[in-house]
Amino acid sequence: MDEILVLAEHREGELRDITFEMLSKARSLGKDAGKSVTALLLGAGVGDYAEALKSHADEVLVLDHGNLKAFNAAVYQQVLSEVLKSREPSLVMIGHTAFGVDLAPGLAVTLELPFASDCIDLAYEGDDLKATRQIYEGKVNATVSFADAPTVLVTFRPSACPVEDAEASAGKVTELDVAVPEEPAMRQFLEYVEAAVGEVDITKADVVVSIGRGLREEENLPMIEELAEALGGVVACSRPCVDAGWLPKDRQVGSSGKTVKPKLYLAIGISGQFQHLSGMKAADTIVAVNKDPKAPIFSEADYGIVGDLMKVVPALKEKIAELRA
Ligand SMILES: Cc1cc2nc3c(=O)[nH]c(=O)nc-3n(C[C@H](O)[C@H](O)[C@H](O)COP(=O)(O)OP(=O)(O)OC[C@H]3O[C@@H](n4cnc5c(N)ncnc54)[C@H](O)[C@@H]3O)c2cc1C
Repeated sequence: MDEILVLAEHREGELRDITFEMLSKARSLGKDAGKSVTALLLGAGVGDYAEALKSHADEVLVLDHGNLKAFNAAVYQQVLSEVLKSREPSLVMIGHTAFGVDLAPGLAVTLELPFASDCIDLAYEGDDLKATRQIYEGKVNATVSFADAPTVLVTFRPSACPVEDAEASAGKVTELDVAVPEEPAMRQFLEYVEAAVGEVDITKADVVVSIGRGLREEENLPMIEELAEALGGVVACSRPCVDAGWLPKDRQVGSSGKTVKPKLYLAIGISGQFQHLSGMKAADTIVAVNKDPKAPIFSEADYGIVGDLMKVVPALKEKIAELRA
């Protein structure tokens, strides 16, 4: 059976969400096109991850080796080259993450694979794979096809698709026997440095109350902070609020800020430009408050309140207090 191969990504002891997002997309593609789904897991001491991946793929290929303790694109590239040459999957998916952008282009060049980066969707039309990519900073979605080849490679954008529930039946786990080179002298892993997190980590919050330029001035911020507190959430914002110095950069949501996936995202006075949407559209429930009924944010929102935020926010606070009492 033809195969879609997904490279599992993990960091600092955790499988990353992008792994399950790609496996979900691969499973729906596989169902439509009659292809099996294989997760490829490279690392050292990664047995537990294989267990977690089993119910998301037909097969999990595991290569557990000391030389794979830290991600190194040069080492990964050599290992992947061997695996791809022997298995010839029709599609290889790698996350469009810091790891993926380091790894995938070199791999494509080495193996001469047709390659599309930063895909937000994939679909088979018959035997032909079509990939959707955003161009002109997201203003246009382009559908691209690939040159005829046994294997094509894509990098897939994080948060571009939801994670589907695991399958009831678990896939098999296969240990790979592939030679793993040492890190080359020119490219060594030294240490992992976590990006500094401010006093609030908006990426971990279940409730995010996000403000935009519609707030007009910093003096109006306290009422938003009170609303966030009443909901047990944190305050985030669109880019103009950071530019204006109302909130620090680590509160910015969007393509040049953070990606959040809370249970509830309250967008207040935010128009919903694509750069903002890309950082929050994976939230479980989106509620938007905007005085402009045509604001693009309403097309992403599950619930919309058309009104002046200076009236809506106090009313929401009052209602929450009433319900809490
Ligand atoms: C390379 C690049 C990267 C970018 N990265 C990001 C990013 O990461 N995150 C991000 O957010 N932006 C980013 N931007 C900026 C983005 O293009 C938008 O300019 C920005 O998202 C707009 O922010 P906003 O919605 O707060 O402001 P605006 O677009 O000005 O919208 C304000 C909204 O408030 C509403 N409003 C006004 N008054 C009220 C009121 N009293 N009550 C209710 N509603 C009211 C208006 O109707 C309007 O819809 C980026 C831009 C570029 C070029």
